[in-house]
Amino acid sequence: MNFFPTPYPDEILYSTMARYCIRSGNIKEIHNFEDLFGTRNCIAIMELPTRLDALVENMPMGTKYTAEYFIYKHTLFPFLAAFIPKERAEKIIQTMRNGEGAVSYMRIGLISNSITLNKYFRFCPECFKEDIETFGEPYWHRSHQITGVFVCSKHKIPLYNSVELIRAGNRQRFISASHENCIAEEEINYSNDLMKKMLWIAEDVEVLLNNQFGFKQPEWFRSQFRVKLIEKGYARMNNYIYQKKLKRDFIDFYGNEYLALVQSPVSVNSGSWLPDMVRNNDITTYAIRYLLLARFLGIPIADLFNTKLGSNDEDENNIDAYQELWDQRLIELSQSGLSIREIADILKSSTKTIRKATDRLEIKEFWKFNGGGKYLHSKFTNTEEFKIKRKDLRERWLELHAKYPDKSSNQIRKDNDGVYAWLKKYDSEWMEENYRRINNRVNHVDWNKRDAELLPKVKEVIKEMKEDKPERITWTTIGSKLGISGWLSKRKEKIPLTKAYIESELESLEEFHIRRIKWGIEELERQGKEMTLWNLVETAGVKPKYMKGIYKEIKQILNNRGYDCNFKF
Ligand SMILES: [Zn+2]
Repeated sequence: MNFFPTPYPDEILYSTMARYCIRSGNIKEIHNFEDLFGTRNCIAIMELPTRLDALVENMPMGTKYTAEYFIYKHTLFPFLAAFIPKERAEKIIQTMRNGEGAVSYMRIGLISNSITLNKYFRFCPECFKEDIETFGEPYWHRSHQITGVFVCSKHKIPLYNSVELIRAGNRQRFISASHENCIAEEEINYSNDLMKKMLWIAEDVEVLLNNQFGFKQPEWFRSQFRVKLIEKGYARMNNYIYQKKLKRDFIDFYGNEYLALVQSPVSVNSGSWLPDMVRNNDITTYAIRYLLLARFLGIPIADLFNTKLGSNDEDENNIDAYQELWDQRLIELSQSGLSIREIADILKSSTKTIRKATDRLEIKEFWKFNGGGKYLHSKFTNTEEFKIKRKDLRERWLELHAKYPDKSSNQIRKDNDGVYAWLKKYDSEWMEENYRRINNRVNHVDWNKRDAELLPKVKEVIKEMKEDKPERITWTTIGSKLGISGWLSKRKEKIPLTKAYIESELESLEEFHIRRIKWGIEELERQGKEMTLWNLVETAGVKPKYMKGIYKEIKQILNNRGYDCNFKF
């Protein structure tokens, strides 16, 4: 060939070769095959074409194309082979490069699962128009040729059958998309519900087509699905799967109509591809079915391939927490004067494990002291050795933090168990003050939200404190009424709305006493008691020595209510 057309975006290689044939000027189709593959003895294949090494060899000098490039970018291989094991995928690649005829679909799990492949080339009328505008000609899109994809993910409209058969006759020619064969005679309309599901799969197929995830063994996918099945209550840890519940919910999720369209029907009362897929076996099935199950279980396609599910943080944290407890207990026991064997018995470990742990925790040093019974009668924390050790470890802890300014204490302690464990045990207050928390997810509080939620509660509490027998309004009393006295006043800068309101309501002791006395006067009136100093003291609960300081105010209040105030303090 002295030229080869540049493949367009999402163009299937078959289509590029068809465009070559239009341009080659060859009168006989057979000469096109000779140009492309150097032989007449071959056929035109859409999905997984073969003889690609020969094709690249026949390209104009200096071509940058490789067989792999075509295989991954311009054939259905990345979709059809996405879920098959590496060895089989590599055989298919070999066949596509050097083989003859069609690739055995048995190899990619197609025929054994009785999927009927699309009969006609398909097209999107919008893409068709756009391609003519952009490139001057229409072409067959790769993503439109996938059996089970019904919509164009770009234009979100249905795909149409062309009149061109994919596997027609002797397949002795490549046929390009054209105005003649791409006619949308009758408009196709799917319900919104169907459309939604069709778009899901079209998008997931795009992801498969445009990524090289690398091949995995069947166990990988089974394990990925298993983790989610357990998480969602469709399986137990012991591998038991609630098949009926799974099938029922799966049908509910997709609907029978859609499942029939993608040739993957599920029936509650009989076996089907779905139970086979989650059971322990190595059958590979049509790629669409993996996508269906992944969607149903909420696994993004990239995660399905790239992220080992089930290595879950919570478990790791639990293990960490357990290890920490165990370490603490060991340090404690090592102070008790017990022998290593005795400690091993208590911790149900071997002496070897204990020795390893004491090395790791660096408790060997004071172990030796204990061995001599030195601390048996005096408290370890009162000894000189203790103070030296504490000083030393504090310094080391701070040095580590200076050395890794971006690391949290949590990360730092992973490699410095001994320092951390010892300080945590014997110097926990200092440790708390010198513990660096990097604020990403731990302890992250949305203060604005907390402020807004707190304000109405505070208002309610203050209202209550003013009714009945008045209570003094302070940060502390409000905090303890709300059960948050631990942090309320310490964090007041973070809750500006609440702070402004509380500050407007705060009372001095005098203000509080005046309020109490007003309330006391009303109370005496209500009870019909005489307005004497002692009755007021008793009812209002304000001592005479405090009343002295606010005598003027008391007199004013009493006079305003028609009493003659002649109290003597
Ligand atoms: Zn389109």
